[in-house]
Amino acid sequence: MNEYDSNRILDLVKKINYSSTENLKEADCYILNTCHIREKATDKVYHEVGRVKKEFRDKKKPIVLITGCVAQAEGDVMLKKEKYINAIVGPQSYHELNNIILNSENKNTKINSTEFEVIKKFDQLNIVKNTNSKISSFLTIQEGCDKFCKFCVVPYTRGPEYSRSTSEIISEAKQLVENGSREITLLGQNVNAYNWNNQRLSDLLYSLNEIKYLKRIRYTTSHPNDFTDDLIQAHVECNKLMPLLHLPVQSGSTKILKNMNRNHTIKEYLEIIEKLKKKKPTIKFSSDFIIAYPGETLNDFEKTLSLMKQVEFINSYSFIFSARPGTPAANFIAIDEKIAKERLAIFQKTANEIKEKYRKGLVNSTAIVLFENNTRGLNKYFGRDEYFNSVIVNSNEDLTGTIQKVKINKCNQNTLFGEIIMEDKRKEFAA
Ligand code: SAM
Ligand code: SF4
Repeated sequence: MNEYDSNRILDLVKKINYSSTENLKEADCYILNTCHIREKATDKVYHEVGRVKKEFRDKKKPIVLITGCVAQAEGDVMLKKEKYINAIVGPQSYHELNNIILNSENKNTKINSTEFEVIKKFDQLNIVKNTNSKISSFLTIQEGCDKFCKFCVVPYTRGPEYSRSTSEIISEAKQLVENGSREITLLGQNVNAYNWNNQRLSDLLYSLNEIKYLKRIRYTTSHPNDFTDDLIQAHVECNKLMPLLHLPVQSGSTKILKNMNRNHTIKEYLEIIEKLKKKKPTIKFSSDFIIAYPGETLNDFEKTLSLMKQVEFINSYSFIFSARPGTPAANFIAIDEKIAKERLAIFQKTANEIKEKYRKGLVNSTAIVLFENNTRGLNKYFGRDEYFNSVIVNSNEDLTGTIQKVKINKCNQNTLFGEIIMEDKRKEFAA
């Protein structure tokens, strides 16, 4: 979501004649867009501002803005602690950015803009053209969270759940496709809690599925508690919706899920997986895991391991529990660091073995790949298959934006390597 937000910030500041530069040394304004989901985020901000300070020691000071969830969480503390910062702007106050920059141009202002004004923000963003032209683009449809898992800062930093209107989403999607995008990933902290005038995520998926030249749709991140049957049916009926679902589970132990306030059991989680597999046999899953959550016994941890083995997630993001200031779990008794690290290593080893077995099984198979770009000017093209695996092929023809059938010849940990199946080389394979 920060990648989407950063792009939108760039679109916004164009209105006051600012544009992005790759060269830090020539920046007039430095915007650091931050994430607060795990520890050390605040330290990283001070470290980075220190770096900018050093770089501009003998030059005119740039305007320095901290945006994103660290700004939201730290508030005035950050402005007081680091005088070099002009303003902190929370994720629901980006509509204020241009005024803040203009106000800071000739004076060393200190501005704290951290109200939750998500409606005003999107009203402002909707009238600014989304200029992103990547083959695969993000589109935020929902923000914030009302679920209050005990470990998570999101409800405090992104604010309550808010869904954008379907018309504004569809018009932005059409804009992205017009710019050249062929794949759109819908974003939300709880993307499947999307609800605008009773229009649900499934309704949106059916509408997006009709957009000409849009070839692929994905969405992330969904919550098991909002996984309704209409959404399962959309996976069957929307041919552009990719057969990979990221469905975070966090732990394989129902007891731990209860302590996290996740409000579902492992049995219920597995029921969703089974329903989806029955209706769409080609579907595969990825997930998020928190290892060593306070109170996690060896037995709970083993349940997480066996869930991993049972579902055979083809990809997973796993982190040791990180105590986030202000969340209930920050006051719980932490698991010994050594044990936590050992459990993470065991978990990741198992996850990698499953992933490796899956990827080796892809060698000699055919993948349907949407090509995104050519790598470093060589005749190598990078794309992703339907399951989001990275694929590289050699080609003298420009494959960017096309979908091709690829025979996979080999793989390493991160990438599949293959060749275009000849009969389809000129003709684009219909998704
Ligand atoms: N809303 C999604 C859900 O409920 O599954 C997840 C959104 S959260 C921004 C992304 C991931 O960060 C979570 O799935 C969780 O695994 C991880 N995460 C959040 N807070 C964490 C914490 N305090 N420690 C470790 N991991 C955390
Ligand atoms: Fe955080 Fe997701 Fe829980 Fe919301 S549902 S509090 S975003 S982990």
